[in-house]
Amino acid sequence: METITRFAPSPNGHLHLGHALSAIIAHDLARDAGGTFLLRIEDIDGARSRPELADEFRRDLEWLGLEWFEVPMQSTRIESYQSAAEELLERGLLYRCTCTRSEIQAASQHAGPEGPVYPGTCKGRAVDPTKPFALRLDVHRAMQEVGERIWVDALAGSVVADPREFGDIVIVRKEEPASYHLAATLDDAADGVTLVTRGQDLFRSTHIHRVLQELLGLPVPDWHHHGLLMDENGNKLAKRRNSPSLADLRNSGEDGLLLAEQLRLRNLPSGISYWSV
Ligand SMILES: [Zn+2]
Repeated sequence: METITRFAPSPNGHLHLGHALSAIIAHDLARDAGGTFLLRIEDIDGARSRPELADEFRRDLEWLGLEWFEVPMQSTRIESYQSAAEELLERGLLYRCTCTRSEIQAASQHAGPEGPVYPGTCKGRAVDPTKPFALRLDVHRAMQEVGERIWVDALAGSVVADPREFGDIVIVRKEEPASYHLAATLDDAADGVTLVTRGQDLFRSTHIHRVLQELLGLPVPDWHHHGLLMDENGNKLAKRRNSPSLADLRNSGEDGLLLAEQLRLRNLPSGISYWSV
């Protein structure tokens, strides 16, 4: 089977060194296996997406010496998210939730990987149809339906899928056609991705994705969760905060091919380190 990887940035801020590393890892894993490296622009966050950044991303990747095949942007795939969500809703695996952020904050008993764990307030409750609603996964019901499922990570090996620490996670957001979890899972299947590469900060999200794959009858890829670039204070490099953008480096005349080689060697600028479990 051909190895197909992808780099899937969101056009809501400039790319930085962490993105460059992530793209290079995905690119090289495909190249070394004689496979294909895809670029997918994840632009469903309508309020924050800036279309002009997609072009900047392409110039950044070209500057780094990467070759890719670009698949359709997420904004063209909204029907597929909606039909999957409708199917899960009809099967009783999702429920409508009208809670506000502050209501959830007040009702939550503990924190999970994505903030306060939702206590299930709206589960089994008729919600006010005039209020905007999110769709949440009934995680216990989902686990009952899928049973014990394994996923395989290049570094961690075989992992039993168990997303319960997230609670009843949002699958469709109030203002967007899908959550990251639903959109990325459907897109990876639609694009034929066989090896999902991304940072170890998203490792636990894979529990959710594996369960969604099972519920929706999607093919199951392998995963490669790579280490992260950190600043001097141990914070992950982030947009707009502690890392120069690739566009700035490119515009200042820095050699992108040389930078890519240095990143491959984990030979990093001072103050930046590579952290991996
Ligand atoms: Zn609710």
